[in-house]
Amino acid sequence: MSGRLAGKVAIVTGAASGIGKASAALFAAEGATVIAADVESADGIIGADAGSEEDVIGLVELARREHGGLDVFFANAGISGGLASIFEQSPEDWQEILRVNLIGPFLAVKHAAPAMKKRGGGSIIATASVAGIRAGAGGPAYSASKAGVINLVKVAATQLATANIRVNAICPGLIETGMTGPIYDMARAAGKEERLGHLNPLKRGGEPIEIANAALFLASDESSYVNGHAMVVDGGLSISHPFNYQDYGKTAF
Ligand code: NAD
Repeated sequence: MSGRLAGKVAIVTGAASGIGKASAALFAAEGATVIAADVESADGIIGADAGSEEDVIGLVELARREHGGLDVFFANAGISGGLASIFEQSPEDWQEILRVNLIGPFLAVKHAAPAMKKRGGGSIIATASVAGIRAGAGGPAYSASKAGVINLVKVAATQLATANIRVNAICPGLIETGMTGPIYDMARAAGKEERLGHLNPLKRGGEPIEIANAALFLASDESSYVNGHAMVVDGGLSISHPFNYQDYGKTAF
């Protein structure tokens, strides 16, 4: 078997749609045996709630029982809770968003690591967001949950390094998926699709495959010296204060 993930067994959560779906397909195309999990049912999807300890244990156990072990866990499932204000969110809203977005990756680390140790190492990747870096990319609970993910991968990477298990995060910018579909639909209906990327240096939103490619790199041995890192994949959105250089004729081309 050939491919950048040849011989590896990978779990991908949130795999029925968007970034997870593109990543599961890419991992498989690169030679991995993929366990694709989601709460939504779809072809080839195993039903599992990424924020349930019992379900995460079940996925790792499935990898061990059916495929002999686990090398990669992409903890990608997430929910947004919408662009709510602080006054529109209840403690229950926060609990559910933190359960899926932050406790989910914690459970992935907790239960993937012992299985990976048996294989001599592994790679755990969690989907954070540019919303976890600064304000302006999501609601309060969502943003806090993603900031938590960025910190979780640093702590986990430190604790698991002696077992040769690397833990990294990806911080996507605006990507067209099920989560952001309503924003794209609204912009298209108003004839303002180009506005979605107008503050982005690359002048566009991203595609799921552009995040999947980053996940592939972090999953593969090519990233063997990348650990505890939050990789931003956002077209440059988060590198600058909001300022449109083009408006002032200050771009190079
Ligand atoms: P999406 O809605 O297309 O896909 C998310 C998938 O996760 C869905 O299939 C959903 O059913 C699944 N899911 C939700 N809760 C789950 C749970 N408890 N257990 C298992 N699966 C569950 O959205 P997406 O954009 O592909 O989201 C993937 C990840 O990317 C999320 O963590 C999201 O926060 C993050 N992200 C997305 C963007 C973006 O612009 N789309 C930007 C930054 C970060």
